[in-house]
Amino acid sequence: MKITLEYIENLSSDTKTFWFKKPPNFSYIAGQFIELYLPHKADDRGQKRWFTLSSAPSNDLISITTKVINKPSSFKNTLNKLQPGDEIEMSDTMGDFVLPRNKDIPLVFVAGGIGITPFHSMLSELASKKQKRNITLIYAANDKESLVFENELAKNCKLLPLLSDPPKDWTGLSGKLSADRIINLVDIKNSTRVYLSGPEKMVEAITRDLKTKVNPENVITDYFPGYNSL
Ligand SMILES: Cc1cc2nc3c(=O)[nH]c(=O)nc-3n(C[C@H](O)[C@H](O)[C@H](O)COP(=O)(O)OP(=O)(O)OC[C@H]3O[C@@H](n4cnc5c(N)ncnc54)[C@H](O)[C@@H]3O)c2cc1C
Repeated sequence: MKITLEYIENLSSDTKTFWFKKPPNFSYIAGQFIELYLPHKADDRGQKRWFTLSSAPSNDLISITTKVINKPSSFKNTLNKLQPGDEIEMSDTMGDFVLPRNKDIPLVFVAGGIGITPFHSMLSELASKKQKRNITLIYAANDKESLVFENELAKNCKLLPLLSDPPKDWTGLSGKLSADRIINLVDIKNSTRVYLSGPEKMVEAITRDLKTKVNPENVITDYFPGYNSL
């Protein structure tokens, strides 16, 4: 289906949200993803990318949030040059990295950098429905500027920001994210569901370790290829 760009919102020096008009009769579940197709003279990574919808399903617009770094791929370069009113092609939504139906299950969300996008969608949707759940979010990033959405997330969950490169006046957590760090920060009961989202290598390494320490059936993952680090 075609979607039309409404506007681009800068969240930090390298992170942007691209807001599009919602196509008629389009619906999705918070946490799901789509594929975007941008015809252009592409580098070896091609003309398509997966993106989580970072918006809340109840929002009138739909959004993706991504990093556009200094020397981006040809895809990100083309995406970044889109103008309001431009149309691009989007697939149907996919994915089961979504909230459990049972509202009483305690949840631990673990985000590495841009892996925050599905949690932003879920927490924004819960806020718009005025639904309270027991959610702790460990949000790991390199530096303070990379903690996009921090203020709005803090309203809807217990937020534990963790920086690997904190500023001098930082009062939050610092250091590296690991399975042991997660277990030390939150009380993971047998019923607790742990959701991990972030760069592929980070999620894979932490998941492998975490599944040996908590009920592996309650560890749910979503990982983003293409990023080498947070
Ligand atoms: C289910 C799913 C959901 C996802 N959701 C999101 C999301 O919400 N937000 C998001 O940002 N991403 C998401 N991704 C990842 C997304 O699809 C891209 O893989 C990612 O954004 C990297 O984009 P890029 O390849 O354009 O690289 P860039 O973002 O441009 O660059 C990332 C790194 O790759 C290097 N690089 C760029 N081009 C090349 C090249 N041609 N050859 C070698 N190295 C290169 C850059 O120098 C940089 O270090 C998701 C992926 C999946 C599978």
